[in-house]
Amino acid sequence: MTANETLKKYFGYDSFRDGQQTIINTILSGRDALAIMPTGAGKSICYQVPALMMSGITLVISPLISLMQDQVKSLNDAGINAAYINSSLTEKQVSMALDYAAKGVYKIIYVAPERLENEEFLYFADNAEISMVTVDEAHCISQWGQDFRPSYLKIADFVNRLPVRPVLSSFTATATKEVKNDILCILGLKEPEIVITGFDRKNLYYSVENIKRKDEFIIDYIEKHRDDSGIIYCSTRKNVDAVQEMLASKGMAVTKYHAGMSSDDRKQSQDDFIYDRKPVIVATNAFGMGIDKSNVRYVIHYNMPQSMENYYQEAGRAGRDGEQSQCILLFSPQDVMINRFLLDNKDFSDIPPEDIELIKEHDNKRLQAMEGYCRTTGCLRNYILEYFGEKTDAPCGDCGNCNREYEEVDMTREAKWIINCVAETKSRYGINVILGTLLGANRARLKELHMTECRTYGALKDSNEKILKDLVNQMVLDGYLHKTNDRYSVLKIGDISSLRDENAKVTMRMNKKQEETREKNTKKKPLSRRSTDELTSAGFELFELLRGLRLEIAKEEAMPPYIIFSDKTLIDMCVKMPLDAEQMLDVSGVGMNKLTKYGERFLGVIKKYAEENAGRVTSINHDK
Ligand code: ADP
Ligand code: ZN
Repeated sequence: MTANETLKKYFGYDSFRDGQQTIINTILSGRDALAIMPTGAGKSICYQVPALMMSGITLVISPLISLMQDQVKSLNDAGINAAYINSSLTEKQVSMALDYAAKGVYKIIYVAPERLENEEFLYFADNAEISMVTVDEAHCISQWGQDFRPSYLKIADFVNRLPVRPVLSSFTATATKEVKNDILCILGLKEPEIVITGFDRKNLYYSVENIKRKDEFIIDYIEKHRDDSGIIYCSTRKNVDAVQEMLASKGMAVTKYHAGMSSDDRKQSQDDFIYDRKPVIVATNAFGMGIDKSNVRYVIHYNMPQSMENYYQEAGRAGRDGEQSQCILLFSPQDVMINRFLLDNKDFSDIPPEDIELIKEHDNKRLQAMEGYCRTTGCLRNYILEYFGEKTDAPCGDCGNCNREYEEVDMTREAKWIINCVAETKSRYGINVILGTLLGANRARLKELHMTECRTYGALKDSNEKILKDLVNQMVLDGYLHKTNDRYSVLKIGDISSLRDENAKVTMRMNKKQEETREKNTKKKPLSRRSTDELTSAGFELFELLRGLRLEIAKEEAMPPYIIFSDKTLIDMCVKMPLDAEQMLDVSGVGMNKLTKYGERFLGVIKKYAEENAGRVTSINHDK
């Protein structure tokens, strides 16, 4: 069977996506590989397809139990023999699984990295035919990633001590240079093929809302998106409790998740969310790793996260099925202070003292970049892509900032005064003292520091403080000013050589009327272009029936609905209206095994609907 045939038979898809084919060919030719692909790009298929085609076993090293369980359920449901070995099994169950594995029952086995040091497991590995070792979430090997797992450091030794060296493939969605280098070095990949697919997720719409009344925003948003599933991230447990309670008191079906809850409660919340009993979950960043729910339509950040890496990962949980989804960050300057506090109180107990300073510096840099995202008036999508090292050209035209109406305002005069003031006071002060001085504010603190005697005192007395603040932040982003990383955030002069030119200009894009345009955007321009756009009212009726059937099966089999079929697959059924098995196989996401398992029941519903609604059309193709 070829790779394409394998993809169709087991997964029901017609073609590979960008990057998948290259990785698969590399693996099949016996070479090591590193794939850096964003969430939802389809990393699993990259190792699962070759695993099915190679003669021996593929070991997948994965950091999280829930992730393994989900993957194994999914594979079993597709008719593939797979198993996991981790601490959720009893010793007896582990022995049994290894027994089966030794007999060649499983093609794919998921293990936690700790298992690689276990005697019984090593004995099995030494005596089995292992064709490939796959390292999932490979960034866990790097101290510069957010999810460092020391036991990942043992993987290289494990691979090298096997009697025959298997192909080593590794996957991550973290693209920073440090992390990539760590993976390449520490994992010991041999002349690997490195595939980096674009980080742009076109189906995600990014926006930042600079608002004070966050609660009203969320209530309004959820009400307007009643049928959708979403995640609301808060920075602290206390916020999670408060926001969830606030929403529940409005009668909304909202659950919550944070590390302060008992594990039973967390499991319950997670299940309520995954099984769509409660479509919205309020959570700290403890929630999400290993959650594959594909129909999350929006991710709202109630608070600013600590880094772009976190933001990209958390926001990226929206729209894994490729459907239009929104990622909204609610920003207030207070978030920066909260995050600073959280970083200052970070637990460094396991970290050698010589590393602490370095880590703090990294944390601070990351936080500053995150703040830059919240404050930029430029294209948000480009900001993200550039942060992850991708080149961009024109603004995307499809994000909150690109859709906002701005005015270009010449701020050269103000910018030069700010630089003068920083220079005159010898880079000793932060933004508040500098702006207070320029505005000629009558503050005791300024008198104390003798700022009132400065030449620049009151030079910009007619300006608006808020706008000057934005200007300073923009000048930091542009590199004209530099902000120190310590808690005092002192302003220093950056590279101002380009400003010496007579004609040099500093312009700032200013919001015309932020609130007004926000409203206009959501009403005027329907952002979503979803597959459901093709469905007529009859199509929606059928979609609901199919969803009902999916939920029924999910309950019978104790499996999340999206593992049975994704929304996208159900929608495709409504569009294609298959009436027999062969037509059913044409539906995207229906492979042989799922056809055998569920085909008849879904066909039954579709046929019955077609008979009872003869003459009604279920879909219209808008593109034609
Ligand atoms: P990642 O691990 O990169 O976040 P997944 O492996 O979970 O992504 O895949 C995301 C979704 O895309 C899954 O629903 C998967 O079945 C689907 N998918 C992957 N490859 C293809 C393909 N070639 N064609 C259609 N859908 C695909
Ligand atoms: Zn944009």
